[in-house]
Amino acid sequence: MSQTIAAMTDAATRLSAIREKLIRAAQLAGRAPEAVELIAISKTRVAEEIMPLITAGQRSFGENRVQEAQAKWPALRGSMPDIRLHLVGQLQSNKAEEAVALFDAIHTIDRPSLIAALAKAIAKTGRRPDCYVQVNIGEEPQKGGCAIGDLPMLLAMAADVGLPVIGLMAVPPVDLEPAPYFALLADLARRHDLAGLSMGMSGDYETAAMLGATCVRVGTALFGVRD
Ligand SMILES: *Cc1c(COP(=O)(O)O)cnc(C)c1O
Repeated sequence: MSQTIAAMTDAATRLSAIREKLIRAAQLAGRAPEAVELIAISKTRVAEEIMPLITAGQRSFGENRVQEAQAKWPALRGSMPDIRLHLVGQLQSNKAEEAVALFDAIHTIDRPSLIAALAKAIAKTGRRPDCYVQVNIGEEPQKGGCAIGDLPMLLAMAADVGLPVIGLMAVPPVDLEPAPYFALLADLARRHDLAGLSMGMSGDYETAAMLGATCVRVGTALFGVRD
């Protein structure tokens, strides 16, 4: 087998294994399998690693840096116009317009200045990416995301300026059982009438799917360990 075909087979195998696990997790929780979207987190991965997943039918991808995504995705997307790109890394306000121009969803909205910058970028470009407010669900000092107590204020502010917020996103503390944090995020979303729940990564996407995730963000389990 040529190297390309081997890489395609590996990617397709990993992809279908993860899809099956997601379907089983959703079913165990009495949810529809199609209620959970798999976002392939392709940060640091080159086009040769990403193409096999596109060939295997994957359409949602996530990146954590605007510049890296700008360098990689216009060409990749050219081959497949229905690809959806998600920004899952911290966003600086001065990159808001570039982010709105490129991404279909932004998962990391966590402060008033960014809400204002995104609203302005949406007005200017006419593009309306799906927006998620990121919550610092474990109240960790070094983590991105807003304090749980600031969430009502941020949601009110986003509504005020017409930002299309559809859900909440979080990354629970590493090395702790994630389920209670997923349940807390789900509860916060329910209380604020938000349908979207972006939670779950390579180590815990099945748990997240059982606890209501509408999208899971999986990198390592799809592509292998990052350098
Ligand atoms: C890198 C990253 C992921 C994917 O992590 P894996 O453990 O590789 O699956 C998910 N979410 C965010 C916010 C990330 O930065």
